[in-house]
Amino acid sequence: MVESIERAICKNARIRSLDGWYYRIDKKSLDARKEPIVNRFRVSLQQEPFEDQPTFTPRVENTDDTAIVVGFGPAGMFAALQLLESGIKPIVIERGKPVKERRRDLVDIFRKQHVHIDSNYCFGEGGAGTFSDGKLYTRSKKRGEIKQVLQTFVNHGAPDNILYEAHPHIGTNKLPEIVSDIRETILTAGGEVRFNTKLTGIEIDNGEVVAVETNNGRIATKQVILATGHSARDVFELLHKQEIVIEAKPFALGVRIEHQQKLIDQIQYKCKTRGAYLPPASYSLVHQVNGRGVFSFCMCPGGIIAPAMTASDEVVVNGWSPSKRNGEFANSGFVVEIRPEDWNQFGRQNPLAAMEFQAAVEKKAFVAGGSNLQAPAQRVGDYVKKRVSTSLAETSYIPGVESVDLRQVLPQVVHSRIGPAIQHFGKRLKGYNSNEAMLVGVESRTSSPVRIPRDKITLQHPDIVGLYPCGEGAGYAGGIMSAALDGIACAKAIAQIIS
Ligand SMILES: Cc1cc2nc3c(=O)[nH]c(=O)nc-3n(C[C@H](O)[C@H](O)[C@H](O)COP(=O)(O)OP(=O)(O)OC[C@H]3O[C@@H](n4cnc5c(N)ncnc54)[C@H](O)[C@@H]3O)c2cc1C
Repeated sequence: MVESIERAICKNARIRSLDGWYYRIDKKSLDARKEPIVNRFRVSLQQEPFEDQPTFTPRVENTDDTAIVVGFGPAGMFAALQLLESGIKPIVIERGKPVKERRRDLVDIFRKQHVHIDSNYCFGEGGAGTFSDGKLYTRSKKRGEIKQVLQTFVNHGAPDNILYEAHPHIGTNKLPEIVSDIRETILTAGGEVRFNTKLTGIEIDNGEVVAVETNNGRIATKQVILATGHSARDVFELLHKQEIVIEAKPFALGVRIEHQQKLIDQIQYKCKTRGAYLPPASYSLVHQVNGRGVFSFCMCPGGIIAPAMTASDEVVVNGWSPSKRNGEFANSGFVVEIRPEDWNQFGRQNPLAAMEFQAAVEKKAFVAGGSNLQAPAQRVGDYVKKRVSTSLAETSYIPGVESVDLRQVLPQVVHSRIGPAIQHFGKRLKGYNSNEAMLVGVESRTSSPVRIPRDKITLQHPDIVGLYPCGEGAGYAGGIMSAALDGIACAKAIAQIIS
């Protein structure tokens, strides 16, 4: 591959050889729209070495300036790095455990049908991003900071192709070590990370933060970055109880759809077998049904459907794939927009109504699956024909699946749109709606069902000086990259006040 790239560079630049030249791949994308399928590269070529990409240079120095970062997901992690860069000591509190111990707790989901409430696919070192797929796409235009985040991942062990791939991806097998390596950088630079430490209250005096309360005691502080993710329901309840203004927020809910990866390759590459230089194929689909968006979400080629619940009495699915994406299956979220009129039954003025709507569907899925963390499932063709599957196709979801009528589990606003959308997508991708494909429920943690308001400039809660709602849980990010960028933004906002 390298040789053919270098040959192409010489040909395009009309030079004989690369002796005395330096090149850098700036972008690589796959064009599979027509035959032949081609990899396109954008390359910079010059006669001096390239400067290093921007990265963090956390300062090691004694400082009295501190800020509390609640949550060590991508938002909290990059907030901590940026605080250090600005000479402020971050004290990170994280309810979960370091990656190694967290991994052991995940095994209990499969072996004992038990979900540890503070250590699971969503909670623990690295947050929901650790055992995720590690796709690093974002619609953000903050090019400099995006490069900085990508370079930071590379400096901590990610492959350097994430710097130029059009759709960069790290993979679940690589993320845990990267995350713990970033923690080491934070500690070496003078930050603190306290695991098994859960936020239980925010002490406010006269409209200003004065301390946080945790299961391990009180910590005095004037600045708190609240980056607790979309699954920390107890945090949303805590804020509501403390009469801190929060609001219900639209999100999306549905199922995971799973196919054989071979089928998706055949559809997308229009060939029997994928060529050696082609990555496992993916797709991105969107359609309107009765005025609502129905769309694919977080597609994982060669991946696994993961049990992403945070309690033992609910079923939530998500997906991940290893760096090589070499698994047998391709899975993707298949979700429908949820709007305020859907959660009215939980109270028009109730800021937790969207969350309660979401939780009710997850509990229903738990019961339908047999109350043992198995997920309710149905073959795609059977779903469309409105019949319960008499047998299920194999799936990658390890806790197992139970054949049910998914219409009995999903809210009407969702289940009435899934059938028409499947048929529509089946016309665009021939075979997508085959009866060998499976629907596995429920995909409900697509984004936060709550927004914590904040001022656009200061990024502080409008009523509370020193409280910085941050990341996906607060409603300002959707994915690893945007959460990381939001963490950086909140840390910079604090630095402006402290300096
Ligand atoms: C299986 C799976 C696959 C995914 N795949 C992708 C992907 O490929 N690409 C992508 O962009 N996104 C993916 N996501 C989503 C992505 O992980 C999240 O968008 C991202 O992690 C959000 O970052 P965050 O820092 O805002 O919150 P989180 O990552 O959720 O982190 C919040 C942290 O806060 C901690 N916390 C919660 N409550 C408290 C408390 N009371 N006290 C102390 N700590 C607390 C939690 O333990 C957690 O560690 C995936 C998610 C899952 C579950």
